[in-house]
Amino acid sequence: MKFRLIYPKWPKLARQTEFHLPPHGPVVFAATLPEYVTVDFIDENLETIDFDDPVDFVGISMMLTVQVQRGWEIADTYRKKGVKVLFGGIATMLHAAETMLHADAVFLGEAEGRMEEVFTDFRQGTLKPCYDYLDARPDIALVGTARRDILNRRLYNHKGVQMVDLVHASRGCRFNCYPCAVSYLGGREFRPRPIDKAIAEMAAIDNNRLFIVDNSLAQDTAWEMELFREMIPLKKKWCSHPIEDKPEVLDLAAQAGAWYVYQAVFDTSDYIRDRIKRYHDHGIGVEGTILLGLDDHTEDSIKRLIDFLLEIELDLAEFTVLTPFPHTKAYDDLHKQNRILSSHWEDYSADQVVFQPKHMTPDRLQQLLDYAWNTFYQDESQNMKMAKLFQQVVKKEMADNTFKPRNRELARQTFGKGQAER
Ligand code: SF4
Repeated sequence: MKFRLIYPKWPKLARQTEFHLPPHGPVVFAATLPEYVTVDFIDENLETIDFDDPVDFVGISMMLTVQVQRGWEIADTYRKKGVKVLFGGIATMLHAAETMLHADAVFLGEAEGRMEEVFTDFRQGTLKPCYDYLDARPDIALVGTARRDILNRRLYNHKGVQMVDLVHASRGCRFNCYPCAVSYLGGREFRPRPIDKAIAEMAAIDNNRLFIVDNSLAQDTAWEMELFREMIPLKKKWCSHPIEDKPEVLDLAAQAGAWYVYQAVFDTSDYIRDRIKRYHDHGIGVEGTILLGLDDHTEDSIKRLIDFLLEIELDLAEFTVLTPFPHTKAYDDLHKQNRILSSHWEDYSADQVVFQPKHMTPDRLQQLLDYAWNTFYQDESQNMKMAKLFQQVVKKEMADNTFKPRNRELARQTFGKGQAER
Protein backbone atom coordinates (compact mmCIF):
# COMPACT_ATOMS: atom_id res chain seq x y z
CA MET A 1 0.00 0.00 0.00
CA LYS A 2 1.37 3.39 -0.96
CA PHE A 3 0.95 5.91 1.85
CA ARG A 4 1.99 9.50 1.19
CA LEU A 5 2.99 11.33 4.35
CA ILE A 6 3.00 15.11 3.96
CA TYR A 7 4.44 17.83 6.17
CA PRO A 8 2.68 21.08 5.13
CA LYS A 9 4.73 24.21 4.51
CA TRP A 10 4.57 27.32 6.65
CA PRO A 11 6.23 30.76 6.55
CA LYS A 12 9.27 31.05 8.83
CA LEU A 13 9.56 33.80 11.44
CA ALA A 14 10.31 37.03 9.57
CA ARG A 15 13.57 37.66 11.47
CA GLN A 16 14.81 34.08 11.72
CA THR A 17 17.67 32.82 9.55
CA GLU A 18 15.96 30.47 7.13
CA PHE A 19 17.11 26.87 7.29
CA HIS A 20 15.18 23.64 7.48
CA LEU A 21 15.72 20.92 10.05
CA PRO A 22 14.64 17.40 9.16
CA PRO A 23 11.21 17.05 10.78
CA HIS A 24 10.93 14.70 13.72
CA GLY A 25 7.20 13.98 14.12
CA PRO A 26 6.77 12.35 10.69
CA VAL A 27 9.79 10.06 11.06
CA VAL A 28 8.71 8.95 14.54
CA PHE A 29 5.19 8.35 13.21
CA ALA A 30 6.51 6.42 10.19
CA ALA A 31 8.18 3.96 12.59
CA THR A 32 4.72 2.99 13.88
CA LEU A 33 3.30 1.95 10.51
CA PRO A 34 2.51 -1.69 9.70
CA GLU A 35 5.14 -3.45 7.58
CA TYR A 36 2.94 -3.68 4.49
CA VAL A 37 2.77 0.12 4.22
CA THR A 38 5.21 1.82 1.83
CA VAL A 39 5.78 5.41 2.90
CA ASP A 40 6.64 8.22 0.58
CA PHE A 41 7.39 11.42 2.50
CA ILE A 42 7.09 15.00 1.24
CA ASP A 43 8.30 17.97 3.27
CA GLU A 44 6.42 20.72 1.49
CA ASN A 45 8.83 23.35 2.85
CA LEU A 46 11.39 21.92 0.44
CA GLU A 47 9.48 19.87 -2.15
CA THR A 48 6.36 20.29 -4.27
CA ILE A 49 3.40 17.96 -3.96
CA ASP A 50 2.37 16.31 -7.23
CA PHE A 51 -1.33 15.81 -6.61
CA ASP A 52 -1.60 13.74 -9.82
CA ASP A 53 0.89 11.15 -8.61
CA PRO A 54 -1.34 8.19 -7.64
CA VAL A 55 -1.43 7.14 -4.00
CA ASP A 56 -3.65 4.88 -1.88
CA PHE A 57 -3.88 6.88 1.33
CA VAL A 58 -2.57 10.24 2.52
CA GLY A 59 -1.32 11.21 5.98
CA ILE A 60 -0.83 14.83 6.98
CA SER A 61 1.49 15.47 9.90
CA MET A 62 1.12 18.93 11.48
CA MET A 63 3.37 20.25 14.21
CA LEU A 64 2.53 23.94 14.25
CA THR A 65 -0.65 25.99 14.32
CA VAL A 66 0.64 27.95 11.31
CA GLN A 67 0.62 24.69 9.32
CA VAL A 68 -3.04 23.83 9.81
CA GLN A 69 -4.57 26.04 7.12
CA ARG A 70 -2.24 24.60 4.48
CA GLY A 71 -2.76 21.08 5.84
CA TRP A 72 -6.50 21.47 5.40
CA GLU A 73 -6.07 22.76 1.82
CA ILE A 74 -3.91 19.76 0.91
CA ALA A 75 -6.50 17.40 2.40
CA ASP A 76 -9.35 19.10 0.55
CA THR A 77 -7.49 18.66 -2.74
CA TYR A 78 -6.84 14.95 -2.19
CA ARG A 79 -10.35 14.26 -0.93
CA LYS A 80 -11.86 15.89 -4.06
CA LYS A 81 -9.88 13.27 -5.98
CA GLY A 82 -11.38 10.52 -3.82
CA VAL A 83 -8.22 9.84 -1.79
CA LYS A 84 -8.77 9.36 1.94
CA VAL A 85 -6.81 11.54 4.34
CA LEU A 86 -5.61 10.86 7.89
CA PHE A 87 -4.32 13.70 10.09
CA GLY A 88 -1.95 13.44 13.06
CA GLY A 89 0.68 15.39 14.97
CA ILE A 90 0.72 18.05 17.66
CA ALA A 91 -1.23 20.72 15.75
CA THR A 92 -3.90 18.16 14.85
CA MET A 93 -4.38 17.58 18.58
CA LEU A 94 -4.60 21.32 19.25
CA HIS A 95 -7.10 21.86 16.41
CA ALA A 96 -8.94 18.54 16.35
CA ALA A 97 -12.54 19.70 15.82
CA GLU A 98 -11.71 21.99 12.88
CA THR A 99 -9.35 19.45 11.35
CA MET A 100 -12.09 16.80 11.38
CA LEU A 101 -13.97 18.98 8.86
CA HIS A 102 -11.19 18.32 6.35
CA ALA A 103 -10.31 14.73 7.24
CA ASP A 104 -11.52 11.18 6.78
CA ALA A 105 -9.86 10.42 10.10
CA VAL A 106 -7.86 12.27 12.73
CA PHE A 107 -5.50 10.51 15.09
CA LEU A 108 -5.03 12.13 18.51
CA GLY A 109 -2.27 11.00 20.83
CA GLU A 110 0.89 8.94 20.45
CA ALA A 111 0.83 6.48 17.56
CA GLU A 112 2.92 3.56 18.87
CA GLY A 113 0.88 0.36 18.84
CA ARG A 114 -2.18 2.07 17.27
CA MET A 115 -1.58 2.15 13.53
CA GLU A 116 -2.44 -1.51 12.88
CA GLU A 117 -6.01 -0.64 13.90
CA VAL A 118 -6.18 2.52 11.75
CA PHE A 119 -4.76 0.84 8.63
CA THR A 120 -6.95 -2.24 9.07
CA ASP A 121 -9.97 0.06 9.23
CA PHE A 122 -8.76 1.88 6.12
CA ARG A 123 -8.41 -1.40 4.19
CA GLN A 124 -11.85 -2.55 5.30
CA GLY A 125 -13.45 0.80 4.46
CA THR A 126 -14.40 1.40 8.09
CA LEU A 127 -12.18 4.36 9.03
CA LYS A 128 -13.47 6.18 12.10
CA PRO A 129 -13.60 10.00 12.04
CA CYS A 130 -11.53 10.20 15.22
CA TYR A 131 -9.07 7.87 16.96
CA ASP A 132 -8.75 9.53 20.33
CA TYR A 133 -5.83 8.10 22.31
CA LEU A 134 -4.84 11.37 23.97
CA ASP A 135 -5.38 9.95 27.45
CA ALA A 136 -4.22 6.41 26.69
CA ARG A 137 -0.52 6.91 26.18
CA PRO A 138 1.37 3.83 25.01
CA ASP A 139 4.19 2.16 26.90
CA ILE A 140 7.20 4.41 26.24
CA ALA A 141 9.30 1.30 25.57
CA LEU A 142 7.30 0.85 22.36
CA VAL A 143 8.89 3.95 20.84
CA GLY A 144 11.06 2.59 18.05
CA THR A 145 13.94 4.06 16.08
CA ALA A 146 12.62 6.88 13.92
CA ARG A 147 12.39 6.13 10.17
CA ARG A 148 14.95 8.71 8.98
CA ASP A 149 15.28 6.66 5.80
CA ILE A 150 12.10 8.33 4.48
CA LEU A 151 13.80 11.75 4.45
CA ASN A 152 15.43 13.14 1.36
CA ARG A 153 18.64 13.90 3.26
CA ARG A 154 20.29 16.05 0.63
CA LEU A 155 17.59 18.69 1.16
CA TYR A 156 18.55 19.28 4.77
CA ASN A 157 21.68 21.35 4.61
CA HIS A 158 22.47 25.02 5.08
CA LYS A 159 25.19 26.50 2.89
CA GLY A 160 26.57 23.00 2.38
CA VAL A 161 26.56 21.98 6.07
CA GLN A 162 24.41 19.03 7.07
CA MET A 163 21.68 20.04 9.53
CA VAL A 164 21.46 18.41 12.94
CA ASP A 165 19.41 15.22 13.19
CA LEU A 166 16.55 15.24 15.66
CA VAL A 167 16.11 12.53 18.28
CA HIS A 168 14.23 12.20 21.57
CA ALA A 169 14.98 10.31 24.77
CA SER A 170 11.78 11.07 26.70
CA ARG A 171 8.23 12.38 26.50
CA GLY A 172 6.01 14.38 28.84
CA CYS A 173 7.01 17.20 31.13
CA ARG A 174 6.51 17.63 34.86
CA PHE A 175 6.18 21.41 34.50
CA ASN A 176 3.15 23.32 33.29
CA CYS A 177 4.34 26.66 31.96
CA TYR A 178 1.85 29.39 31.18
CA PRO A 179 2.15 29.58 27.37
CA CYS A 180 2.82 25.87 26.75
CA ALA A 181 0.49 23.07 25.59
CA VAL A 182 2.85 20.20 26.44
CA SER A 183 0.92 19.17 29.55
CA TYR A 184 -2.17 18.71 27.34
CA LEU A 185 -0.26 16.98 24.56
CA GLY A 186 2.19 14.76 26.37
CA GLY A 187 0.99 14.77 29.98
CA ARG A 188 2.56 16.01 33.24
CA GLU A 189 4.28 12.70 33.85
CA PHE A 190 7.89 12.58 32.69
CA ARG A 191 8.30 9.39 30.62
CA PRO A 192 11.89 8.51 29.77
CA ARG A 193 12.59 5.98 27.02
CA PRO A 194 14.74 3.01 28.04
CA ILE A 195 18.20 4.58 27.91
CA ASP A 196 19.73 1.72 25.90
CA LYS A 197 17.14 2.25 23.14
CA ALA A 198 17.67 6.00 22.98
CA ILE A 199 21.46 5.53 22.94
CA ALA A 200 21.28 2.86 20.23
CA GLU A 201 19.18 5.20 18.12
CA MET A 202 21.63 8.09 18.58
CA ALA A 203 24.59 5.83 17.78
CA ALA A 204 22.98 4.66 14.54
CA ILE A 205 22.43 8.20 13.19
CA ASP A 206 24.93 8.99 10.47
CA ASN A 207 25.47 12.52 11.71
CA ASN A 208 27.77 13.72 14.44
CA ARG A 209 25.45 16.60 15.32
CA LEU A 210 22.12 16.06 17.01
CA PHE A 211 19.25 18.08 18.40
CA ILE A 212 17.80 16.26 21.40
CA VAL A 213 14.25 17.54 21.14
CA ASP A 214 12.89 16.37 24.51
CA ASN A 215 10.67 19.05 26.05
CA SER A 216 13.21 19.65 28.78
CA LEU A 217 16.05 17.43 29.96
CA ALA A 218 15.78 18.99 33.43
CA GLN A 219 13.28 16.45 34.72
CA ASP A 220 15.03 13.78 36.77
CA THR A 221 18.63 14.21 37.89
CA ALA A 222 19.54 10.51 38.08
CA TRP A 223 18.07 9.79 34.63
CA GLU A 224 19.72 12.83 33.09
CA MET A 225 23.14 11.93 34.49
CA GLU A 226 22.78 8.32 33.36
CA LEU A 227 21.80 9.46 29.86
CA PHE A 228 24.82 11.76 29.61
CA ARG A 229 27.17 9.05 30.95
CA GLU A 230 25.96 6.68 28.25
CA MET A 231 26.29 9.37 25.59
CA ILE A 232 29.96 10.13 26.29
CA PRO A 233 31.38 7.27 24.17
CA LEU A 234 29.21 8.31 21.19
CA LYS A 235 31.19 11.55 20.85
CA LYS A 236 28.17 13.27 19.34
CA LYS A 237 27.76 17.04 19.62
CA TRP A 238 24.28 18.21 20.42
CA CYS A 239 21.92 20.98 21.31
CA SER A 240 18.83 20.58 23.46
CA HIS A 241 16.24 22.34 25.54
CA PRO A 242 17.32 23.14 29.12
CA ILE A 243 19.67 20.94 31.11
CA GLU A 244 19.40 20.80 34.88
CA ASP A 245 21.40 23.53 36.51
CA LYS A 246 23.64 21.50 38.82
CA PRO A 247 27.42 21.45 38.40
CA GLU A 248 27.62 17.63 38.38
CA VAL A 249 24.93 17.44 35.67
CA LEU A 250 26.50 20.18 33.56
CA ASP A 251 29.91 18.47 33.91
CA LEU A 252 28.54 15.26 32.49
CA ALA A 253 26.55 17.10 29.80
CA ALA A 254 29.75 18.82 28.65
CA GLN A 255 31.61 15.49 28.54
CA ALA A 256 28.68 14.03 26.58
CA GLY A 257 29.09 16.70 23.89
CA ALA A 258 26.62 19.42 24.88
CA TRP A 259 27.07 22.19 22.32
CA TYR A 260 24.33 24.67 23.20
CA VAL A 261 20.94 24.81 24.91
CA TYR A 262 17.76 26.71 24.25
CA GLN A 263 17.00 28.45 27.50
CA ALA A 264 14.00 30.64 28.28
CA VAL A 265 15.11 33.96 29.76
CA PHE A 266 12.10 35.51 31.43
CA ASP A 267 13.55 38.05 33.85
CA THR A 268 16.68 39.93 34.82
CA SER A 269 17.34 38.05 38.05
CA ASP A 270 20.68 36.86 39.42
CA TYR A 271 19.26 33.35 39.13
CA ILE A 272 19.16 33.68 35.32
CA ARG A 273 22.51 35.50 35.20
CA ASP A 274 24.18 32.74 37.22
CA ARG A 275 22.51 29.99 35.24
CA ILE A 276 23.75 31.36 31.91
CA LYS A 277 27.21 31.80 33.41
CA ARG A 278 27.29 28.19 34.59
CA TYR A 279 26.41 26.94 31.09
CA HIS A 280 29.19 29.11 29.66
CA ASP A 281 31.67 27.98 32.33
CA HIS A 282 31.05 24.43 31.13
CA GLY A 283 31.66 25.38 27.50
CA ILE A 284 27.95 25.13 26.67
CA GLY A 285 26.48 27.90 24.51
CA VAL A 286 23.04 29.41 25.13
CA GLU A 287 20.38 30.47 22.68
CA GLY A 288 17.85 32.46 24.70
CA THR A 289 14.20 32.05 23.88
CA ILE A 290 12.57 35.30 24.86
CA LEU A 291 8.83 35.68 25.08
CA LEU A 292 7.49 39.24 25.11
CA GLY A 293 4.05 40.44 26.16
CA LEU A 294 3.42 38.65 29.45
CA ASP A 295 1.10 40.50 31.79
CA ASP A 296 3.95 41.80 33.93
CA HIS A 297 5.81 43.19 30.91
CA THR A 298 5.84 46.94 30.50
CA GLU A 299 7.69 48.86 27.83
CA ASP A 300 10.45 49.65 30.35
CA SER A 301 10.76 46.08 31.60
CA ILE A 302 11.10 44.76 28.04
CA LYS A 303 13.84 47.25 27.26
CA ARG A 304 15.62 46.35 30.49
CA LEU A 305 15.36 42.67 29.60
CA ILE A 306 17.05 43.24 26.20
CA ASP A 307 19.90 45.16 27.87
CA PHE A 308 20.26 42.30 30.33
CA LEU A 309 20.55 39.73 27.50
CA LEU A 310 23.48 41.67 26.10
CA GLU A 311 25.07 41.95 29.55
CA ILE A 312 24.93 38.22 30.17
CA GLU A 313 26.36 37.57 26.68
CA LEU A 314 23.80 35.16 25.34
CA ASP A 315 25.22 33.51 22.25
CA LEU A 316 21.98 33.90 20.31
CA ALA A 317 18.45 35.03 21.09
CA GLU A 318 15.13 34.35 19.46
CA PHE A 319 12.31 36.74 20.25
CA THR A 320 8.63 35.90 20.02
CA VAL A 321 5.43 37.36 21.39
CA LEU A 322 3.05 35.57 23.72
CA THR A 323 0.65 33.58 21.53
CA PRO A 324 -2.46 31.98 23.02
CA PHE A 325 -2.33 28.55 21.44
CA PRO A 326 -5.38 26.41 22.20
CA HIS A 327 -5.14 24.14 25.24
CA THR A 328 -2.77 26.46 27.11
CA LYS A 329 -3.41 28.42 30.28
CA ALA A 330 -2.59 31.56 28.29
CA TYR A 331 -5.47 30.79 25.92
CA ASP A 332 -7.90 30.10 28.77
CA ASP A 333 -7.05 33.34 30.58
CA LEU A 334 -7.00 35.63 27.55
CA HIS A 335 -10.14 34.06 26.14
CA LYS A 336 -12.00 34.55 29.45
CA GLN A 337 -10.87 38.17 29.51
CA ASN A 338 -11.94 38.75 25.88
CA ARG A 339 -8.39 39.74 24.98
CA ILE A 340 -7.89 37.48 21.95
CA LEU A 341 -7.93 39.62 18.81
CA SER A 342 -7.52 37.04 16.03
CA SER A 343 -8.61 33.49 15.50
CA HIS A 344 -6.93 33.21 12.09
CA TRP A 345 -4.43 30.45 12.69
CA GLU A 346 -2.02 31.80 10.05
CA ASP A 347 -1.51 34.76 12.41
CA TYR A 348 -0.33 32.40 15.18
CA SER A 349 3.27 32.49 14.02
CA ALA A 350 4.50 33.81 17.39
CA ASP A 351 5.83 36.96 15.71
CA GLN A 352 2.43 38.64 15.30
CA VAL A 353 0.51 40.08 18.23
CA VAL A 354 -2.90 38.40 18.32
CA PHE A 355 -4.03 39.49 21.78
CA GLN A 356 -4.49 42.66 23.79
CA PRO A 357 -1.40 43.12 26.00
CA LYS A 358 -2.01 44.36 29.53
CA HIS A 359 0.27 47.41 29.60
CA MET A 360 0.46 48.60 25.99
CA THR A 361 -1.31 48.51 22.67
CA PRO A 362 -0.84 45.52 20.34
CA ASP A 363 0.98 47.83 17.90
CA ARG A 364 3.42 48.93 20.59
CA LEU A 365 4.20 45.32 21.51
CA GLN A 366 4.75 44.57 17.83
CA GLN A 367 7.20 47.49 17.66
CA LEU A 368 8.97 46.27 20.79
CA LEU A 369 9.45 42.87 19.15
CA ASP A 370 11.31 44.66 16.35
CA TYR A 371 13.20 46.70 18.90
CA ALA A 372 14.31 43.50 20.64
CA TRP A 373 15.70 41.89 17.45
CA ASN A 374 17.33 45.12 16.28
CA THR A 375 18.92 45.96 19.62
CA PHE A 376 20.22 42.49 20.41
CA TYR A 377 21.84 42.08 16.99
CA GLN A 378 22.92 45.71 16.41
CA ASP A 379 26.63 45.24 17.16
CA GLU A 380 26.97 41.71 15.85
CA SER A 381 24.59 40.25 13.28
CA GLN A 382 22.67 37.04 13.72
CA ASN A 383 24.88 35.42 11.07
CA MET A 384 28.04 36.43 12.93
CA LYS A 385 26.72 35.09 16.21
CA MET A 386 25.68 31.84 14.53
CA ALA A 387 29.13 31.53 12.97
CA LYS A 388 30.68 31.88 16.45
CA LEU A 389 28.44 29.15 17.82
CA PHE A 390 29.37 27.02 14.85
CA GLN A 391 33.05 27.60 15.58
CA GLN A 392 32.48 26.17 19.04
CA VAL A 393 31.23 22.87 17.69
CA VAL A 394 34.02 22.65 15.14
CA LYS A 395 36.58 23.20 17.92
CA LYS A 396 35.00 20.46 20.02
CA GLU A 397 35.01 18.10 17.03
CA MET A 398 38.61 18.88 16.19
CA ALA A 399 39.58 18.26 19.81
CA ASP A 400 38.18 14.73 19.74
CA ASN A 401 38.81 13.95 16.06
CA THR A 402 35.17 13.69 15.09
CA PHE A 403 35.29 16.56 12.61
CA LYS A 404 33.92 15.31 9.30
CA PRO A 405 36.01 15.97 6.19
CA ARG A 406 32.88 17.11 4.35
CA ASN A 407 32.76 20.12 6.68
CA ARG A 408 36.45 20.95 6.25
CA GLU A 409 35.87 23.51 3.50
CA LEU A 410 33.41 25.33 5.70
CA ALA A 411 35.85 25.34 8.59
CA ARG A 412 38.45 26.87 6.27
CA GLN A 413 36.00 29.65 5.47
CA THR A 414 35.25 30.12 9.15
CA PHE A 415 38.76 29.95 10.65
CA GLY A 416 41.14 30.43 7.79
CA LYS A 417 43.25 27.70 6.21
CA GLY A 418 45.89 26.92 8.83
CA GLN A 419 43.64 26.48 11.83
CA ALA A 420 41.11 24.34 9.96
CA GLU A 421 43.82 21.84 9.14
CA ARG A 422 45.47 21.63 12.53
S1 SF4 B 1 7.67 25.23 28.39
FE1 SF4 B 1 9.06 23.48 28.50
S2 SF4 B 1 9.32 23.11 30.70
FE2 SF4 B 1 7.47 24.39 30.46
S3 SF4 B 1 5.76 22.94 30.34
FE3 SF4 B 1 6.39 23.38 28.26
S4 SF4 B 1 7.86 21.75 27.78
FE4 SF4 B 1 7.65 21.76 29.99
